[in-house]
Amino acid sequence: MAAIPYFEFRDFPEGSMAAVEEALLQAVRSNRYILSEKVTAFETSFAAMLGAAHAIGVGNGYDALVLALKAIGTGPGDEIIVPANTFIASANAVVQAGGVPVLVEPDRNTYNLTAAVAERAITARTKAIMPVHLYGQACEMGTLVKLATQHKLHLIEDFAQAHGATYAGKAVGTFGTVNATSFYPTKNLGALGDAGAVVTNDASIAAFVHSYHNYGETEKYHNKLIGVNSRLDVLQAAMLQVKLASLQKTNAERQRQAQLYLQKLEGVGDVVLPITAPDCSHVYHVFNIRSSRRDALKAYLQEQGIQTAIHYPVPVHLQPAYRYLGYKSCDLPIAEELAADSLSLPLFPGLREEEQLAVVKAVKEFFG
Ligand SMILES: *Cc1c(COP(=O)(O)O)cnc(C)c1O
Repeated sequence: MAAIPYFEFRDFPEGSMAAVEEALLQAVRSNRYILSEKVTAFETSFAAMLGAAHAIGVGNGYDALVLALKAIGTGPGDEIIVPANTFIASANAVVQAGGVPVLVEPDRNTYNLTAAVAERAITARTKAIMPVHLYGQACEMGTLVKLATQHKLHLIEDFAQAHGATYAGKAVGTFGTVNATSFYPTKNLGALGDAGAVVTNDASIAAFVHSYHNYGETEKYHNKLIGVNSRLDVLQAAMLQVKLASLQKTNAERQRQAQLYLQKLEGVGDVVLPITAPDCSHVYHVFNIRSSRRDALKAYLQEQGIQTAIHYPVPVHLQPAYRYLGYKSCDLPIAEELAADSLSLPLFPGLREEEQLAVVKAVKEFFG
C-alpha cells in the first residue's frame, strides 16, 4: 500500500473541491477584495450554524484570541487561566494582550481544562478562564460557566479545534463572553490559508471587535480606537462558506473513523484511547492515543509508511519562551505525561477504510 499521510486534502464529500474552486473563481471575478458581502455572508452563516448572535471574521486564530482578550479589557497584570497542554497560540495571545497566562493541568481522562482545576488557580488578579476544546472534544462547560459566574470572571473559549462540537447540545464557541476560533487549513473547518473568527452574543463586544479589527474605524476614516488590521480575506470567506455547508458531514465522517479506531484498538498493548465525557461531543480534530512506548511506535509506523503527529511534544509551561514565568519540570505532571506519551493517528475526511485498517494492523504488529 502507498504511504498513508497523517493529513491530506481529499475530495470529501465528493465534489467539494470543485465547489471550492468555483467559489474562489467567483470571488476573483467579483472585483471586490476587502470586506465585501462575501465576508458578511460567511460571518452570518457561521454565527447561525453555532447559534450565536455575532461572528466577526479576522485574519487568523491567534488574532481572534488577542481580539477576544482585548474585548474584555485584558491589560497589564491580568491573569488568564490557560491549560498547559494547548497549541502555543492560546498562551501567546494572552501575553500579546498584556496579560499573564496562568498555566494549569488538564483532566487526566479528557485532557481538557475542568472547573475544579481552574478554581484552584483563581486569584484576586484573575480576569478570565480560557478553556480550549482540545483535539475536538467539548470541555465540560456546565461547571466552567458556573465557576465563572460565581467569581465574576469571563470565559473565553478557544474552539480552534472544535467547530461543530457541542456541550449538552449547545455549540462550543457560544458559552464564553467572547470566543475565538481558527480556520487554519487543517482545522475541521479550514480555509486555503490563514483565517479566524471571534464569536459573541454580546452586541457591544461585537461592535468593539468589528471596529478594532479594521483599524478602529467606526465609519471610513473615522477612528475612535487605535485598532489593527486583521480582516478575514474575501477569497477565504467565499470558500469557507462552501465548506461550512459540509461541516456536519465531515465531522460525522471523522466520528465514524474514530469509532473504527476505538473498536479495533481496544486492549492493544498499553494503548490508551480517547475518552469522551458525558454531555460532551467530540469532533476528532485529532485522534490521540497514548503509549509508554510512543517514540518507538511512531518510528515503527513511519517505517511502515504511516505518518503520525505529536500534539504537543513540549507543554507550554516548559517552552523556553515561557521560562520567565518560572515553571519547572514536574510542576504539571499530567500535561508533561501527555507530552511524553501522546501520538496522533491519521484521521481526516477522505481517509479510506483500507488505509485505516493498515494503521490498525501496524499498531497491533508493533505490540506483537
Ligand atoms: C490552530 C490553533 C490556534 C491558532 O490558529 P492560527 O489560525 O494558526 O493562528 C489557536 N488555538 C488552538 C488550540 C489551535 O489549535
